Amino acid sequence: MEKNLNILKDTFGRQHNYLRISLTELCNLRCTYCMPAEGIQLSPKSNIMTYDEVFTIAKTFVDHGVTKIRLTGGEPLVRRDADVILKQLATLPVELSITTNAVTVDRFIDTFRSCGIKSINVSLDSLDAEKFNEITRRNDFDKVYKNIQLLIKEGFKVKLNAVLIKGFNDNEIIDFIELTKALPVSVRFIEFMPFDGNKWDKKKMVSYAEVMDQVYNAFDKKDVLRIADAPNDTSRNYKIEGYKGSFAIISSVTNPFCDSCNRIRLLANGRLKNCLFSSAESDLLTPLREGKTIEPIIKKAIQAKFKVRSGMNTLEEFNDPKRHAQNRSMITIGG
Ligand code: SAM
Repeated sequence: MEKNLNILKDTFGRQHNYLRISLTELCNLRCTYCMPAEGIQLSPKSNIMTYDEVFTIAKTFVDHGVTKIRLTGGEPLVRRDADVILKQLATLPVELSITTNAVTVDRFIDTFRSCGIKSINVSLDSLDAEKFNEITRRNDFDKVYKNIQLLIKEGFKVKLNAVLIKGFNDNEIIDFIELTKALPVSVRFIEFMPFDGNKWDKKKMVSYAEVMDQVYNAFDKKDVLRIADAPNDTSRNYKIEGYKGSFAIISSVTNPFCDSCNRIRLLANGRLKNCLFSSAESDLLTPLREGKTIEPIIKKAIQAKFKVRSGMNTLEEFNDPKRHAQNRSMITIGG
C-alpha cells in the first residue's frame, strides 16, 4: 500500500511519524510529580482500548507514515495483555520501544527480545533508595535497580529518565553522571513540567542551564563533550571524556523543541492528543467501534496543532498553573 503522508502533516509542515501509545491509566508506582496524591478519575474499563483496538489504530497510523511507536502509560507492563500487544505491534514495520518504571521488567526480557525491542527507557529519579521510595510512594528501589542492571546485561540500550526537582534530587546530578563512567547508559535529566494536580511550581524546576552549571563545576570543561543528537531528538546530549555512557537534558520548559516535533499521543481510552500540553483531545475509539473511518479525525487533530506548546507562546503563559488545569495528569498521558 502506498503511504499517504498527508494526514499526518500539520499546517507548519511537521510530519508526524512517531506515535506514543499509553496502554493503561494504571501504575504500580505513585510518583508525586506525575500523579496527584488523591489519585485520578479513571476511565471506565469499557472505554479502554482492547489489544485489537490498539493494533487497529496503530496500524492506521503506520499506513499513513508512522515509523516509530513507543508504549507508555501509566505503567505499560501492568496491563495483563502487555505481551500480546507488544507481539502484535511487532508485526508492523516500525521501531518499537517502551518507557517503563522497570518494576516488572525481568518478566518481559524474552518478549522484548522476540519483539525486536532494542532500546528501553526507564524512569529513575533517585539513586538513593529512601528518596526513590519517597517520590514513588512505594518501596521498589532494589527491584528497579536490579532490573536496570539486568537490561544492561541482556544487551538492551538503556536510557534512564530522571525528573529533576529542586531540593529533592538536584544534588544527585553529578552522581547520576558518575553512573555513566562504568555503565553504558544514557541518563536524561528532564525539566519538571506542569500538569493537572502535580503541584508544579517554576521554583521547583531545575533548568537546563542549572544542570550545565553543575556539570562545568564538577568536570574540566574540555572533558565535557557535546555529542550528536538523534533526528527530532528532544534532548541535548553530552558525555564525559572516557566514560562509557552519556547524559542528556530534556528542556521542555526552558527550550521547547516544538519546531521539530514529530510526536502524537494516543491515550489508553483511544483519544488522540496532538501535543503534550494540549487539553484538546480527539476520540478515535468511539468512531472505530461504530465502524467509521478514523482518518478524517486524525487529519483534523493534526491540522489543529499549534506551532508552540499548544498555543502557550511565552514562558509567562506557560508558567501560569491555570493554563494546565484543563490538561490531564501525566499519569494518563504517558510522557
Ligand atoms: N510508567 C512509565 C515510567 O515510569 O516511565 C511510563 C509512564 S511515565 C508517565 C513517562 C515519563 O513521564 C517518565 O519518564 C516520567 O518521569 C515522566 N513524567 C511524569 N510526570 C512528569 C512531569 N511532571 N514532568 C516531567 N516528566 C514527567
